[in-house]
Amino acid sequence: MNIDTLVRNNIKNMSSYSSARDDFKKLNDKKFIYLDANESPFENAINRYPDNKHTELTKVVSNIKNVNVNQIVFGNGTDEILDLIVRVFCNPNKDKIITLPPTYGMYDVIAKTNGVENIEIPLKSDFSIDKNEILKLSSSCIKILFLCSPNNPTGNSFDTNDLTDLIKGFNGVVVVDEAYIDFSSKQSLISLINDNNNLIITQTMSKAYGMAGIRLGMGFSNQKIINYLNKIKPPYNINVLTERKALEELNKIDEIKKNIDLVLNQRKLLLSCLEKLDFIEKIYKSDSNFLLVKVDNADLRYNQLLKNGIIVRDRSNQPLCQNCLRITIGTENENKSLIKILNQL
Ligand SMILES: *Cc1c(COP(=O)(O)O)cnc(C)c1O
Repeated sequence: MNIDTLVRNNIKNMSSYSSARDDFKKLNDKKFIYLDANESPFENAINRYPDNKHTELTKVVSNIKNVNVNQIVFGNGTDEILDLIVRVFCNPNKDKIITLPPTYGMYDVIAKTNGVENIEIPLKSDFSIDKNEILKLSSSCIKILFLCSPNNPTGNSFDTNDLTDLIKGFNGVVVVDEAYIDFSSKQSLISLINDNNNLIITQTMSKAYGMAGIRLGMGFSNQKIINYLNKIKPPYNINVLTERKALEELNKIDEIKKNIDLVLNQRKLLLSCLEKLDFIEKIYKSDSNFLLVKVDNADLRYNQLLKNGIIVRDRSNQPLCQNCLRITIGTENENKSLIKILNQL
């Protein structure tokens, strides 16, 4: 596939913002006097603009994820990267994306914000992908297919063959949102970016890595797509505090892995407790850090939990999710409180 033909002409023809620090490399053995960016000269650890190339972070993440440094883009949360992707490829009031509801709500918001039509191909009743229905659609205006695996709010991973068939068969860019991949029994598809020039993988520091507060999302793709995304990215989108904190936390990767195991154990435990409750009609198989459960009356159960100080997410208004609550796996104590209260209802 020729990726360039999918990119908007205005993006192809523009040049990116050249930052004050682009023209030279910082040399460790040389102390520069910075009079180039109208910053405050008074040192307080945050008076300088951040490194717009995110050099240190890129190095660390490329090691953890086993990709090249030129295969990474960072965003102010994954949400910013998803928005950049739509803006690189989709002409407003002309181009379209495909999403598979019930799924992450931001794809639709981002599409609508950018004047891009969102074609919805619902998942089948078992939350699997309706592959043939997607591949039937063919139009040069349909630029992007968003696949969320493991999917939010259903919690399941999609069949790997379905995903790879779509990456191969879809005539546009395929985004696989792997926000929950660290909780999954399935492997990340990140290594496929080397063989499929239309594939973008997104991941985030917000879930398994425990850093939702610093807003740091990651996109992985081939160098060509990454260059387009970087071209339109706000140069200083990752702030100094975020980069510093991320590096600090990523240094403790063993702790992160330990916490993932704790969540997975708690997921199993919570599942077995929920199975015993008669007002819970179904617990969907989860590959994520949450459980989607169908109850007798979602509104009633949501409000009962709320009165007892526990907030879950009512997903009833989503297709195929009538009377479904999405419950995030908490700490052992939090889950104990949840079970105690559920048993009293
Ligand atoms: C939570 C979540 C994200 C993460 O978004 P951030 O902006 O990185 O916090 C992305 N995709 C899905 C499906 C999510 O549930």
